[in-house]
Amino acid sequence: MNANVQRYTRHYINGQWVESTGTESFESYNPATGQLLSHTQFGSESDADAAVQAATVAQNTFAQTTREERLDMLRRIGESFKKHQAALVDAVQQSLGAPRMLCERLQVPAGLMQVQAWSQLLQQFQFEETRGQNLLVQQPVGVSLCITSWNWPLNGPMGVLLPSLAAGCATVWKPSEHATASAVLLAQIMHEAGLPPGVFNMVLGNGHVVGRRLVGDPNVAMVSFTGSVASGQAIGQAAVAKSKRVVLELGGKSPFIVMPDADVTAAVKACMTGLLRNSGQSCNAPSRLLVPQARLAEAEAVAAAVANGIAIGDPALPTTQMGPLANEAHYQSVQRFIERGLREGAHLVAGGTGHPEGLTQGWYARPTVFSRVSADAHIVQEEAFGPVLIIQTYDSLDEAVELANRSEFGLSAYVVGTDAALAQKTARRLQAGMVHINGAEMSLAMPFGGFKRSGLGRKFGPEGLKAYLEPQSILIPTA
Ligand code: NAD
Repeated sequence: MNANVQRYTRHYINGQWVESTGTESFESYNPATGQLLSHTQFGSESDADAAVQAATVAQNTFAQTTREERLDMLRRIGESFKKHQAALVDAVQQSLGAPRMLCERLQVPAGLMQVQAWSQLLQQFQFEETRGQNLLVQQPVGVSLCITSWNWPLNGPMGVLLPSLAAGCATVWKPSEHATASAVLLAQIMHEAGLPPGVFNMVLGNGHVVGRRLVGDPNVAMVSFTGSVASGQAIGQAAVAKSKRVVLELGGKSPFIVMPDADVTAAVKACMTGLLRNSGQSCNAPSRLLVPQARLAEAEAVAAAVANGIAIGDPALPTTQMGPLANEAHYQSVQRFIERGLREGAHLVAGGTGHPEGLTQGWYARPTVFSRVSADAHIVQEEAFGPVLIIQTYDSLDEAVELANRSEFGLSAYVVGTDAALAQKTARRLQAGMVHINGAEMSLAMPFGGFKRSGLGRKFGPEGLKAYLEPQSILIPTA
């Protein structure tokens, strides 16, 4: 076997690296070159059981730890993370195909930002309050299970693992099978941070064997899931059937409203930049652009210029702005989405099916822009999870709001305009868990999650911590 091909055969259970007892293996390829990167030995049901068992044993003692002890644990995780940043950048670039610049500036630093955000929150969070003579105590919910996606392989997992640990929950993590390299590094980071055995466990595996077994384990009290709507709904049903707590962070088809008084050129550029940043593989990517009818031609021209001008190519180059899609199956799914748009009669403003010119190797897709399509068309309603923008038009702001809300998703939305008060008023009318006004950046102090089919519950901020806590009322007799 090629010496550069990694073999991942071990889970992290009870403070140790243990060999997988599963028989199924999975191959990962570098999406920029198509070259084999790694073999992962998936876990078995008994590996999943062992992880939950370790967490269950650790839970009682871990639940008794103080805020200061958990803050110190987060501090050690941060220190350990810093030592592995260079390796994490390589891992994310090679396995996801994210441009080096994005890995260095955001994909990897996002992990540290999560450490800072949760440390700050843990310092301030009120675990107890009095109501009259009675006490309300926020107790750790018990063993938590975090199942995560691959598209932001550090921000995503750290955004759910850290609050789980900060809340005092022994945690089992099943990372995505498409993000093994960074997951193994993250488990090593936790190991070097010296967490007590069983407090953090990671099992490599797929959804239908390891994932399903973990969700069904009676000792798992809470399931935090990040991924597709289909998997999330199945997991939600299985979890609720056993009265487990569940948070679902699912997909989106987020609208970007360019208000009538906005600078259309700047707004469309901002929308395209947000969409294409991770090759469109972000749950909150602005993938529906709503512009006044009279500004359609201008919006199309600007969107096309960005789509045709972006530097696509080798993610290892410092000048690359957009890399390939993460894997072949996902590339094929985005191709089918674009073909569907063409069949639905949408006007193709830029891009289309196939590879960008000169990039025949790897899973590069063309940044694609559609317009002049019915609001009920598949490409308007469903998530591409790729570099595909749909432009819609409106005649009045009421219609813009109606079109933005005409979706089964409700994760994020974007509003751009010069009248700040009107932009805020419009934001309040949108059915979306997070609304960005005039380019305001994501804040980890604010809850993130979806209305409607985009999910259940919230991550980040105090609401994100409360997902791992159970309120307990302690009633005290009047004196
Ligand atoms: P996916 O649903 O295929 O997989 C997500 C995870 O669930 C993986 O770890 C997978 O192994 C596991 N899984 C799948 N089926 C399972 C089952 N039956 N039981 C237990 N585990 C199971 O999704 P994906 O392709 O990894 O992610 C893409 C989707 O995730 C997109 O829709 C995107 O919008 C969404 N996403 C949402 C957020 C958010 O915060 N809302 C963040 C990132 C990604």
